[in-house]
Formats: sequence, C-alpha cells, structure tokens
Amino acid sequence: KEMTFVNMCPDQERNVQVAADGSNSLDDVRTQRHTATCTIERSMMVRVIDDIAMTTLKADVRWLSMDLTSLVKVDSVFIDGQATTFFRAKDRSTFFVNIPVPMPKGQPFTMRVVYSGDLIRRVDDYTILRTSLDWIPSHSYFHKALYDMTFTYPSSMTLVSLGKKVSTSTQDRMTTSRWVTEQPNSNNSFHIGLFKEKPLTTPDGVPKCMLYYVADSYDHVDEIGTDIEQSLTFYTKLFGPPPINMLHATELPGTHGEAFPGLLHLSSLAFVSTADFFQEQFIAHEVAHQWWGISVKPLSYRDRWLSEGFSEYSCLMYSQLAAQETKKFFRLLEEYRKGIMSFGKKDIGKNLAPPAVALGYRVSSGAGLEFEAYNQFVYYKGAWVIHMLRNMMIDLVTMREDAYMTVMREFYNRFKNRHASTEDFKTTIEQLTGADLGWFFDQWVYGNQLPTYRVAWKKEQQQDGQWKVTMRIRQQGVGENFRMPVPVKIADEDGKAIRLRINVTSTTNVVELPPVAFEPEEVVFNDLTSVLCDVKEESF
Ligand SMILES: [Zn+2]
Repeated sequence: KEMTFVNMCPDQERNVQVAADGSNSLDDVRTQRHTATCTIERSMMVRVIDDIAMTTLKADVRWLSMDLTSLVKVDSVFIDGQATTFFRAKDRSTFFVNIPVPMPKGQPFTMRVVYSGDLIRRVDDYTILRTSLDWIPSHSYFHKALYDMTFTYPSSMTLVSLGKKVSTSTQDRMTTSRWVTEQPNSNNSFHIGLFKEKPLTTPDGVPKCMLYYVADSYDHVDEIGTDIEQSLTFYTKLFGPPPINMLHATELPGTHGEAFPGLLHLSSLAFVSTADFFQEQFIAHEVAHQWWGISVKPLSYRDRWLSEGFSEYSCLMYSQLAAQETKKFFRLLEEYRKGIMSFGKKDIGKNLAPPAVALGYRVSSGAGLEFEAYNQFVYYKGAWVIHMLRNMMIDLVTMREDAYMTVMREFYNRFKNRHASTEDFKTTIEQLTGADLGWFFDQWVYGNQLPTYRVAWKKEQQQDGQWKVTMRIRQQGVGENFRMPVPVKIADEDGKAIRLRINVTSTTNVVELPPVAFEPEEVVFNDLTSVLCDVKEESF
C-alpha cells in the first residue's frame, strides 16, 4: 500500500473541551440556528444569505471572529437588521464583525452574512465541492446548531442536503428545495450533480437510503449499494438505530470520503477502483460514522479514536460478520498490526517511538509522517484497542460475545447525540462487566508501549495419562508492570482444542497449563489474533 488516503471526518480539531451544545470557554457567542437561502446559478456560482441566530456568552463583545472559506467573498454583514462593518484580510478565512451596540451576556441576536463565490467546480458531468465543511459562516466549528436551508438550483441537477426535505418546487427550470434538520449538528453540507439515482432497500427500522452517482458505466455501483444497505442494517442491529431517517450517499470526485448526518460523500474511486481501500472498507467506514463521530462525538481531540477507531473497527466487524469474510478480517488486522509495530523503524537511524492513541491529531507532532501516524494510531491502533477489549470479553468455552455486544450497544445508547470521552467508554465497560480496566486504558490508549512475546512450550505425559503443557513467555519492549491476558489454544492433531487465557504479567512467565486428555500437537499463543504484539517462538 503505497498511497495513504485520508478520510476527512466530521468536526475540526480544537484543543479545548466542549460543552454539550458545542460551545467552550473561549467562545464569545453560541450559535443556535442557521436559516439560509443558497442560490446555485447555472454557472455554478453560489450566492448565500445566512441568518445566524446567536446568543452572547460574554458582555460587551465589540468584534466577533467568524470563519468562512476564503473561496467566497463576504459581501455584507448585518446585526439585527442593521448593516455593520467587517474586516477580512486578503485570502483569509477569518473575518471580524463589528457589534455596533454593546450587548449584555445572554443576549440573543441575529447576524446576517451575505456572501458569494465559486464553491462548486464543474468538469463535464462531474461537480466538485471545493469545500464541504467551511462554506457556512461559523464562530466555532463545534457549535451544534439547527439548519433551515433553502437551495435554488438548475432543475437538470439533483441536490441533497442534511435533514428533512420539507418542500420542493420548480419555476423557470430552477428548482427550490428546503432542508430542515431536526438534531442540532456542528456542520452542514450538501451535494449537487447530474446524478443517476439508485434507491436502496433496507428492512423496517433501518434508515432508508438512496445512492447518487454520475455514470452507468461504473463497475461497482451494485456492490456499493449492497455494502451501504448491508452495513447500515448490520450496524443498526448491532448498536441500535442511528438518529436519521434517510441516508443519501453521493459520489464526489477525489480520493476522500466524508460523513455528515444522513449524507455521505463517497470518493469516485470507490465506484471504479479495485483497490482494497476503496471496496467495502471505505463504504462501511463512512456508514459507521453515523454512529461513531456523528451521533457519539469525541469530547476532545484526545478522544478522536472514538470516532475513527470505532468506525474502522465497525467496518472490520462488517467484513467479518455481515459480509462473512473472516479471512479478510484477519488479513486487515494483520496489515494494521504490521504497520503499527514497524512504525518509525523503516528508515535507518530514525527509530521513532510509537505515539499513544490518546494524542489524537498530535500523533504526528514532530514525526513528520503526518497522515501515516494519524492513520496508524488513531484509526488502526484505535480499532485494535476495541478488538483487544472484544477478545478479552469472549467466553472462550462457548465463544459467545454477549458481553462485548452489550457493551457496544450500551455505550452507543448512553452517548448518542452527545459527546463522549475515553473515560466514558472505560466507565461503561467497567459498570457492565465489573472489571477494573484502568491498567488496560493506561497501557493501550494513554500509553505507547507495544509488547513482543518470546514464547516456548513443552509437553509431558503425566502418570494418569493426561498431558501437561508448560509455557515460558518472555515479555519484551514494555515496562515491567505491563500485563495482558493472552488467549492460548491447545490442539491435538485432529484439531480438537481447548482455549484458555494466560495472564502475562512480568518479564519472564513460566506457566503450567491445566492438564488435557489429548496429546497436544499445537499450542497457539495469542490465539484469535487477540493482542496487538509481536510473537516470536523459541525453543524451551
Ligand atoms: Zn473516518
């Protein structure tokens, strides 16, 4: 895998903790609602009038900072109907709005921003949104607001946005449709194009969905449709219903995918490429964001893996359990493991220490391997953390996974439409299982160590005819107090097997396993690929 693709995902980064409404202590105002009219002309020029309902969080704010993509020009700004002064440096996204009359703290007011620009590129039949996130003015990318958006656009094109389409009408070959969201959300997007539409079928209780794509000649339209239908159905069953009634999945030229509540932008490559990345993984990852990242939002940048790691592991589970591609599930886990274990060691002399998952976007600080570190540690190690927890919860006798399934469902249920932290996840598992997991999160989320186990085993027949296996495990690359329960499988030549866990707790462990009735032919340490580690076999 030579290229690394980035799923740009919901919410921008910020270093401060956010309240439930998305505001934080640095904010001057909080945003409640955007009521906007967006006219998309035949030339694809976009003109927007956005009335933003806000409330002051501080008294006497004189200049309010706002962000808006530098692709558009701010034409005028009004406060409560009065034109006001604003300042914006050339080619900058930030602009400052003068509040002409000082307001007390807690004062509601409306800011109207009138702007226009070249937000959409059209190349033949393809339309490209030049930015999908910052095309609406915001004081903070975190504020959760309601959106009432009215779009007017050429009737030859199809437009989808967030929320419920409450009305649509056509005049002079221009269509006007109004989209109203019901859940406060921290961003808004849309997509417009010359789309073919493919209605997808999902069972009752699962959101309806529609796939929008440009060309009938694509190879993978049916597969993409199937993966959306099945992953949406699978996750709904697994975690509970997402807070949307309808999912619009749209093709967007380029290499990235992006998820909004009820709206997906899917890279064009997914429709034509045979690369692993763009097959079901890509689709199922973006669909999973409806649960992780959009509904359950990371509380701070340190909790980012709750969005990316969870979405990544959800799509691994989709491959394993819904698409029934167990081999692929283990192949991808192994691929991710190799990348994580070898991180920073590829270039001679570099030998960078692996970063901790809880660094969020800061995993790349100083490493100079920005995307690689973010993908390896927030997406892939994040996914591995859940995989390890899952395998710690498997009943090794019955192989049932009720405990893990309950944990995921309950965590989603507790934090849907809210912000959640790593500690919230830990507490949820601890409350449901009664286990103390401080050590686990310290090692695998807040810590950066990765163990290597050097393993030897021998067998011995006892006087009663049973066989006893002794294992020696030397733990390396981690501190002395590092510990982990590791599943072990003892099997005979016909494949008859028993499974158990060994608590590896120190530098050298010598463990006598309970006697078995058959002669062991194979002893598998780290059975079910349960722990993120290197295993090296040696003789006893
Ligand atoms: Zn993602």
